[in-house]
Amino acid sequence: MTDFGKTLVERLESRESFERMVIVNDERTGLEVSVVIHDTTLGPALGGTRWYPFPTRAEALVDNQRLARDMTYKLALAVGDDTELAQAGVSFGGGKAVIRGQPTQDKDRRKEQLQAYAAVIDSLAGRFVTSVDVGTSVEDMITMKKVTKWVAGLPKEMGGSDDPSPATAHGVVWGMIACLEAVFDTDSFRGKTVAIQGIAGKVGSILARDLARQGAILIGSGGVNQSAAQKIATEVGAKLVPPDEIYEQQCDVFAACALGGTLNDNTIPRLRCRITAGGANNQLWEPTRHATMLHDRGILHAPAFWINGGGVINVAHELHPGGYSQERAFADVKKIYDRGKTIIDISRKEKVPPFVVAVRLAEDRIRKVKKTAREEHVDGPRHRPSAV
Ligand code: NAD
Repeated sequence: MTDFGKTLVERLESRESFERMVIVNDERTGLEVSVVIHDTTLGPALGGTRWYPFPTRAEALVDNQRLARDMTYKLALAVGDDTELAQAGVSFGGGKAVIRGQPTQDKDRRKEQLQAYAAVIDSLAGRFVTSVDVGTSVEDMITMKKVTKWVAGLPKEMGGSDDPSPATAHGVVWGMIACLEAVFDTDSFRGKTVAIQGIAGKVGSILARDLARQGAILIGSGGVNQSAAQKIATEVGAKLVPPDEIYEQQCDVFAACALGGTLNDNTIPRLRCRITAGGANNQLWEPTRHATMLHDRGILHAPAFWINGGGVINVAHELHPGGYSQERAFADVKKIYDRGKTIIDISRKEKVPPFVVAVRLAEDRIRKVKKTAREEHVDGPRHRPSAV
């Protein structure tokens, strides 16, 4: 998680712009929620709802802001002009919601809080569409859908896109291929060693199975549930190492698929890989500084908001005018490869970290659309889905 510490107030005082922030502390249900809409230049904000026991309201809000900004970048890159979504006139801005507290397991209380939260989403009238994130489930989305239509991430039988993890893992594989081509001049995993941090996770395990099928040599590490990690390691023939030893494994690709912030001052000097490319969000503890540190060590780092966009692309396809189609969604997930080639090419030409290039491409896209909208006097999101 972000190092809030002394900088918390500074962060809240920063002049960074956010389009809209809604904070509700509802005494009746005990719901404490913030919704941050970062930018809707490209379309209505799309982003998950995180339900997590942040120690303070300020920490919840600061993390909410950071997550919302990441969604803007992720969607600006993911839904490029060449995608099925963009060609159908659908694109998205970024937002995120945070419910502060331990997610309650009491069924009635959970329903009451989710319904109160859904009413907040409904009041935003389509400026923000939400789906599943840490602490929320597909079942929660079904509960909320009864109150507001601005919910995605529903099960297949309700016309939804279901669990985003397979699409996320699929996108990571395409992103890794772009990296392999740049570093090793091959698109094959055969004989390549990949170290997966979080091998038992939803994304990590799907990734491990796919890479094993493609002939990769695997190393893995797990979290508290070591038996789950051992089980998947045995299944895919991976060597399982203790959590803190994953960093110094000799490998071609280090894939962070557990928590955020695992690439930092302590771990980057220990890495013995040529590429870091994984599914975890916010892998870099201090994004620009640690992206530069990896770059200076000659390690190609795939920015998280580029490479792990598969899940949100899949969810976004629920809002395609033709309805959700896995075939269409996965065609767009595959574009992660093309985006990666562009980012890596520019990074090499300009000798700057891919992270810096990816941020610039996302910001340029938004700036361009903003400028056109100003010239055409268009106000508000370009596209608002009529039904979800
Ligand atoms: P998950 O909870 O299923 O998996 C995380 C795994 O990491 C768990 O098995 C956990 O035990 C393990 N873990 C925790 N600490 C660890 C440590 N120190 N060392 C090794 N393993 C550790 O979550 P997930 O859905 O697979 O998501 C993984 C990451 O990918 C998260 O950062 C998430 O935000 C990001 N992400 C996921 C999706 C998705 O579609 N699921 C989409 C985008 C980004």
